[in-house]
Amino acid sequence: MLTVFQQYINGRFDNGSETFDSVNPATGTPWATMPAATEHDVERAVQAAHAALSDPLWAKLTATQRGKLLIRLGDLLASNAQRLALIETTDTGKIIRETSAQIAYIAEYFRYFGGAADKLEGAVLPIDKPDMEVTTRREPIGVVAAIVPWNSQLFLAAVKLGPALAAGCTVVLKASEEAPAPLLEFAKLIHEAGFPAGVVNVLTGFGEPCGRALTSHPLVSRIAFTGGPETARHIVRNSAANLAATTLELGGKSPVVVFDDADIGGTVNAVVAGIFGASGQSCVAGSRLIVHAKIRDAFLDALVVKALQIRIGTPDNPATEMGPLATSRQLEKIEQVVAASRAAGGVVLTGGQRPASMQAGNYYEPTIIDCPSPDVPSVQTELFGPVLSVLVFETEEQAVRLANSTEYGLASGVFTRDLSRAHRMMKAIRAGVVWVNTYRAISPTAPFGGYGESGYGREGGIESMLEYTRTKTVWIRTSDEPIADPFVMR
Ligand code: NAD
Repeated sequence: MLTVFQQYINGRFDNGSETFDSVNPATGTPWATMPAATEHDVERAVQAAHAALSDPLWAKLTATQRGKLLIRLGDLLASNAQRLALIETTDTGKIIRETSAQIAYIAEYFRYFGGAADKLEGAVLPIDKPDMEVTTRREPIGVVAAIVPWNSQLFLAAVKLGPALAAGCTVVLKASEEAPAPLLEFAKLIHEAGFPAGVVNVLTGFGEPCGRALTSHPLVSRIAFTGGPETARHIVRNSAANLAATTLELGGKSPVVVFDDADIGGTVNAVVAGIFGASGQSCVAGSRLIVHAKIRDAFLDALVVKALQIRIGTPDNPATEMGPLATSRQLEKIEQVVAASRAAGGVVLTGGQRPASMQAGNYYEPTIIDCPSPDVPSVQTELFGPVLSVLVFETEEQAVRLANSTEYGLASGVFTRDLSRAHRMMKAIRAGVVWVNTYRAISPTAPFGGYGESGYGREGGIESMLEYTRTKTVWIRTSDEPIADPFVMR
């Protein structure tokens, strides 16, 4: 018997008129049935979100009351973290120790934005005209279409829902067609938290028709998208229909630059966490190691030893350190690019194959490829898997050039004990996030986003709330004098 998940539209749950099965990546077999939202479902969800915008049950709430709802949602998420983690693990193959830690932390995002809801202020402008009181107000931008990919769906939904609801918007949230179960289950907590009907609607379905219908809908004012660059281009084209303001959180090919003064043991741990955590299925995966020639051999030796120690296993086992990839399609893509990288002169130092110990499922060994040049395919292609490409540098200028040699610019890491150098590198690297002597740290208080092909707009922090508002400027004439005849010159 497959588990049935439902969509959530206008405060009610239903199975949808069309459905599809979701496959457990650890076994390769279907385990659950999901609704595949149709154009009609999208229409119902957007109309409900639009009506909720002016429904007094939502529109008349104070910002403080909206904040309390968000904090309640955060608390509900925290108390249901284990249950949701198991669902996410079953649907995505992400290991249970990662999903449970991540979901418990996602609750903090709702608490943060709940607290921030009544901190957004307008301004009184020192205007250059007498007898005028001019103020600005921040108003909710309207209906938000929030679209997320399959990896870290709850996290990526939280960084959109939190600021959007804090600002007073309403949302249609579209889960990915791959592994949507955790978000559909999360919809039950949204309902339980007490958000009025229509304020949040949760759908899942395919790019066509669901994603297209949602992003081109005339009642949508804001699109918050996380996914790949090709889909982003479709979405920007779709938004020509509604001129919705858009943020794009796209992929990455993030560099980790290791100087010869770095602490080798600690840096190896950070590099391993950056590329093999979540089996490399992370937009911020540190997939390009750029290491100083002087420590190259010692560093790679230590890295290979560590990679070989990683425990590959089924994701529901708490002892597992690396689980399967979410889809067989992704696994096949990785195999093709690794083969092409070998043909281009890349030397596989470890991995480069499916593990013999795992018969079923989308497993791939932690893989390290020594690359003679940045043109090797694994250096340029976002693989979304456990594959690290290694490049060597001798001068700081070379390191910067290599770090900036892809079209992406999402995250980056710099490892050095030299403070001046760390400052120079932090300025020279073209990426939305630079981590110095650490990697993969995130927080609700810190903005996150990319440069170039990694997209635009920021999620996280107060800055992200502004993206869900628009400014209204109010001019009030305070003089009792009658308004002068405009055609009589004085
Ligand atoms: P994807 O672009 O294929 O899909 C993302 C979402 O877009 C899904 O919900 C999908 O159904 C939807 N979609 C597809 N076609 C659409 C269309 N025409 N109109 C509207 N929506 C459409 O991405 P994916 O393969 O699921 O996820 C992996 C990508 O996401 C990687 O590139 C990864 O780096 C990126 N990512 C980025 C971040 C970040 O914060 N920057 C975080 C996680 C993942």
